[in-house]
Amino acid sequence: MKDLRKDIDQHVDRVQDFPQEGIQYKDISPIFLNPDLCDRIIKTFAGFSRGKVDVVCGIESRGFLFGVQLARELGVPFVLVRKAGKLPPPVIAQEYDLEYGTAKIEIREGHIKPGQRILIHDDVLATGGTAAACAKLVEHCGAKVEQFGFLIGLSFLHGVEELKKYTQDIQILVEY
Ligand code: AMP
Repeated sequence: MKDLRKDIDQHVDRVQDFPQEGIQYKDISPIFLNPDLCDRIIKTFAGFSRGKVDVVCGIESRGFLFGVQLARELGVPFVLVRKAGKLPPPVIAQEYDLEYGTAKIEIREGHIKPGQRILIHDDVLATGGTAAACAKLVEHCGAKVEQFGFLIGLSFLHGVEELKKYTQDIQILVEY
């Protein structure tokens, strides 16, 4: 795990003042240049979730990258959580705040079923607003937020505190 953390850290580009001043953007795209590292990340995430979750929800767009592969590895369905206006109706929507700006996310109605245990996955946990909005959608569908999984957590923004009301099971591979 220590080696994995180090290898992920070495594949994350820090870009200062992007997309706006004062933000240090964590770009995970170099990770995808290294298939072996991707494989280790998926296997590690799968180890956290195997037997515990019925569905992986991935948040647009970088939450799709590992999310869909993780769902395949676990042999469970993958549900797309998309920004407003991308999915055709009928959808269920939820507004939320970002580290920069505000937004709305949507899922297709009926893709999450009552009683299912859900893993919510994204690349970066910042304030937790996006993942919390996703958790609200999951609960609105009558399902249970079983686990959150993130590649990166920005601990100085205390997103984990925002998410603890949904589940204590919050997996983060690398914290900054
Ligand atoms: P939040 O709702 O504040 O937790 O923000 C999480 C979402 O915004 C995720 O989908 C991230 O991809 C993106 N995000 C927020 N802050 C950053 C950052 N510093 N670097 C890269 N992505 C970020």
